[in-house]
Amino acid sequence: MATESATESATDCLFCKIVAGEIPSTKVYEDEHTYAFVDLNPQAPTHVLVVPREHYSDVAELGQDAAASAGLIAGIRGLVAQEGLRHFRTVFNTGTDVGQSVFHAHAHVLAGRPMGWPPG
Ligand code: 5GP
Ligand code: ZN
Repeated sequence: MATESATESATDCLFCKIVAGEIPSTKVYEDEHTYAFVDLNPQAPTHVLVVPREHYSDVAELGQDAAASAGLIAGIRGLVAQEGLRHFRTVFNTGTDVGQSVFHAHAHVLAGRPMGWPPG
């Protein structure tokens, strides 16, 4: 269940439209709570975005709803299990200063190449 801070679908939200099938995407995985698709501008051989079906603007807002948060983590688990990924990086950009450009919470799941630490 969404809290009052979430809506089932936000008007003019790109990822709500992708979840609804109104904008095409390359689906990799889906379940009751999440939809996962290939990033348009991949930064690694595997670069998948895992998004909650309901609209939350970022991971901090998503975190206000424990069930929805668990649903997204379970979706990440479902994706990596399906794809057989054992080494992967999960990124939640939050805020424009660190590069968030789409304001529907999403986990980047990146894999398939060596990655430095700390991230840039
Ligand atoms: P952010 O910058 O908010 O962390 O991540 C947004 C991601 O969405 C970017 O990596 C960008 O490449 C991806 N993206 C933006 N528009 C589209 C789109 O229309 N389709 C897909 N598949 N990915 C998109
Ligand atoms: Zn949305």
